[in-house]
Amino acid sequence: MHPLVRAATVLAVITAIGRLDRPRPPRAPGPLPPAPVGALTAPCGPRTVPDGDVCVPLPPPGAAIDEAPAREPARAGRAGRAIGADDPIPRLPERPEAVAAYRLPIDAPSPEVISDYDLDRPARERRQGPGFREIGHGGLDLAAARGADVRAIALEYQEGSAEVLFVGELFGSTVVTSHLVREAGRLREYVVLFGHLEGFGPAAVPGSPLATGDVIGGVGDTGSPGNVHLHLEVRQVRDGARLRPVDAHRIVDPSVTIPCDPRNVLAPR
Ligand SMILES: [Zn+2]
Repeated sequence: MHPLVRAATVLAVITAIGRLDRPRPPRAPGPLPPAPVGALTAPCGPRTVPDGDVCVPLPPPGAAIDEAPAREPARAGRAGRAIGADDPIPRLPERPEAVAAYRLPIDAPSPEVISDYDLDRPARERRQGPGFREIGHGGLDLAAARGADVRAIALEYQEGSAEVLFVGELFGSTVVTSHLVREAGRLREYVVLFGHLEGFGPAAVPGSPLATGDVIGGVGDTGSPGNVHLHLEVRQVRDGARLRPVDAHRIVDPSVTIPCDPRNVLAPR
């Protein structure tokens, strides 16, 4: 059997086993309210986003948005724990820096990036401060109107459909999708985390395949109260690591997955 075919077969079996073992998904926090029509084109000024009837100013870049994933409780007196693996994957030099160059899960021709991926920078340049439980930021924080649709994406060089891996509490209400990406002649698994959702969409069913554009949730501020935004994080599954059976802790366990600059795998516009 061709090695790639064998790898795909093994992965399919592991996936099937994972489905059998997977606990029932947690109940959605509530029905997903319809996104306000024209939410992203509401007459709000620069650096503000509509939230219901009001325009909410965005926090200044690097401002305190405490959004640490739901892991073990922070130890008393110990703030600013470093996150992620020792070997986070930096943005490749050939990948454009501008987030607007990529297809995003929200409808935003000119996306406002509140916080950037900074794990590839020196420690002193990583997001930190008294308002943070953790040092560094392993994803992109994208401003959007509350309730705006968050849609499934396909990564560049993805093979087959993405799959819903997890629906539950991680960065607030979070959906995680799994993607097989062809890289240097082999298939590698990536997971994409969509955090702080205010509700789950009809496509957010663990184990289900996703078509690009399927609604998996609405933008919200769960786990980051008062800061409505989408936390978009990409992690590469380590060689030989087992992600399944799935649980929230393993998805962000640095021994299982490595934080990766999302721009390395997002599809260009
Ligand atoms: Zn974030």
